[in-house]
Amino acid sequence: MRRQRQAKIVATLGPATSSRDTITALFQAGADVFRLNMSHGSQEDHRKNYDILRELETRFGRPIGVLADLQGPKLRIGSFANDAIELERGQAFRLDLDEAPGDTLRVGMPHPEIFAVIKAGHRILLDDGRVVLEVTRSGEDFAETTVIAGDGLSNNKGLNLPGVALPIAALTDKDRADLDFALELGADWIALSFVQRPEDIIEAHELVGGRAAVMAKLEKPSAIVELDEIVALSDGIMVARGDLGVELKPEEVPGLQKRIIRACRKAGKPVIVATQMLESMITAPTPTRAEASDVATAVYDGADALMLSGETAVGEYAAETVGMMDRIMVVVEQDTLYEPTIASPEATSADAISAAARQVVETVNASAIVAYSVSGSTTLRAARERPEVPILGLTPKVESARRLALVWGVHSVHTQDAHDFVDMVRHAVALAKDEGFAVPGERIVITAGVPFGTPGSTNTLRIARVY
Ligand code: PEP
Repeated sequence: MRRQRQAKIVATLGPATSSRDTITALFQAGADVFRLNMSHGSQEDHRKNYDILRELETRFGRPIGVLADLQGPKLRIGSFANDAIELERGQAFRLDLDEAPGDTLRVGMPHPEIFAVIKAGHRILLDDGRVVLEVTRSGEDFAETTVIAGDGLSNNKGLNLPGVALPIAALTDKDRADLDFALELGADWIALSFVQRPEDIIEAHELVGGRAAVMAKLEKPSAIVELDEIVALSDGIMVARGDLGVELKPEEVPGLQKRIIRACRKAGKPVIVATQMLESMITAPTPTRAEASDVATAVYDGADALMLSGETAVGEYAAETVGMMDRIMVVVEQDTLYEPTIASPEATSADAISAAARQVVETVNASAIVAYSVSGSTTLRAARERPEVPILGLTPKVESARRLALVWGVHSVHTQDAHDFVDMVRHAVALAKDEGFAVPGERIVITAGVPFGTPGSTNTLRIARVY
């Protein structure tokens, strides 16, 4: 099962893809990592899907990454006496702590901590930005507003306060329970919603304790202010364009996508571009040309992976959407205009060896790089170099192999423990041939840290001929 592209595909599982057949179809169509979205479905649903994924791993002999995406705090208004109301631009509308059902003049908002930070002039977005309110006066248990946009509102709609750092933690009680569940299940990546500050990532790492990699979903402008620090603290980043697009103006999102990808490329952290990539394929067998272009742009920008959400979770054409994304990505990567930027190496032996490996590949016309790494950290540095040939990420640790399934250019292989360097070179040569990366007579470039076992200790480069 060798993919013909370097960038990866993440597919969200949901009601449309919760059987062995539909999940197998997604995998065969090109999904490399599967997202269990904790905002929907029960833990039992997720367990069932997880078990199917691990069965597929055995059946196809390929490591599969599982990304458990925590819901995070969702701010919502209360309900209305008649379930819904009509609004007029310019009218006054009040939010308060009163639990009584709302009407055309007011509705409850059961978040006292939010009233503490709301100030006159702030904008409140409701229902994914369909309704915009401007605060005129506020107190500790109310906010008086004017309706700027929108003509109606119904029960329990979500609420965003763009640009305001909110005094709430990224993890709710539900998230903590879902996190325990996901770790017990064996998820490889934990995605954290509602990241506002570096401390949110530090807290997540403390809870995860190295049992999974931690991904920060960037969906709040306040996180962008501390982008470099958040990237440095996270194992991976998701450009969560859905929420980001509510909090920011549409015209601000594309540039931000590029900025976030660049920050991740520089740091060598895998980055996913998410949301509405092929949205119209939820109900149609082909995408709009604008969507195809959006997918292509994320690949040209240098993302490690692109994510499908509703397209695969509830879509009528789930496997076809993965297939379409796969084809767009393959074509982009063959385009002469596709030139991944090469990040300059940092002053470490791992980067010196990884940069050298990329150059040696070009000089001796090698057909693959084989990175042997227990933790996968050196494989990440090899991927950061964006070499022209595929990277076989060999690791004796199945957890590392699964995490690396997300990373650009890496074909990860769970291999047996190597006794010594000579033994590892023998494995590397055999695997490069068996997995279809080199034929007898071709050369491969092998990198490793000798002696084995210290993360990030890569210090050895070897050119080997496949026989
Ligand atoms: C997003 O906002 O783009 C996103 C992926 O987050 P959610 O889980 O809220 O869809």
